[in-house]
Amino acid sequence: MSLLINEIFYSIQGESSFAGYPCVFIRLTGCNLRCSYCDTRYAFDAGHESTIRSIIDRVSSFKCRLVEITGGEPLFQGKTPALIKQLLDLGYNVLLETNGSMDVGKTDNRCIRIMDIKCPSSGEAEQNDLANIGKLTFKDEIKFVIGDRDDFLYARKMLRMINKGSHVAQISFSPVSGQLLPSTLASWMLKDGIKARLNLQIHKIIWPSDKQGV
Ligand code: SF4
Repeated sequence: MSLLINEIFYSIQGESSFAGYPCVFIRLTGCNLRCSYCDTRYAFDAGHESTIRSIIDRVSSFKCRLVEITGGEPLFQGKTPALIKQLLDLGYNVLLETNGSMDVGKTDNRCIRIMDIKCPSSGEAEQNDLANIGKLTFKDEIKFVIGDRDDFLYARKMLRMINKGSHVAQISFSPVSGQLLPSTLASWMLKDGIKARLNLQIHKIIWPSDKQGV
């Protein structure tokens, strides 16, 4: 059983409630969306076939028990749930970074899903599968990537809906890098008493150029 892999690397987790922890990243090839601010376009097509066995061998070489499956969009490949399950069965703590447009219910409930809800400036908000919100559990997380004031108002409205029907571990608001100042988003959040976490991409602070870890 094999998947198309763009890269596997060891770095510091830059986002989510796991920010700051060493983590092995498995970046899968392919995505069904084309967000305006995407910073991983290189993963849309480039990749090599790898068996689950060889992926796990590479992951185990890093001596790290935290693994993130990312992309692209990991659920774009049908074998991704099998990879997640095998990593979980081996005792890894598995994070799944997903864009919110594909069925998160296909994945093992032991994995921690960090799900985007796309805002209007991404150009992909109509692709949100809002039924996913009800499939998340108390350990999963939701992330809004916010590029402007309209995005903030959209996220604020969605937050009210989520708080009524879901109990996720964390909801975060993240400014689009180079487009919205963190201080601007912070001031909007404070003014409106937003019950979410301001999320900054700390890997871009550690490695401001194209370096991303080892
Ligand atoms: S979902 Fe992620 S990988 Fe896909 S286009 Fe949007 S930002 Fe890029």
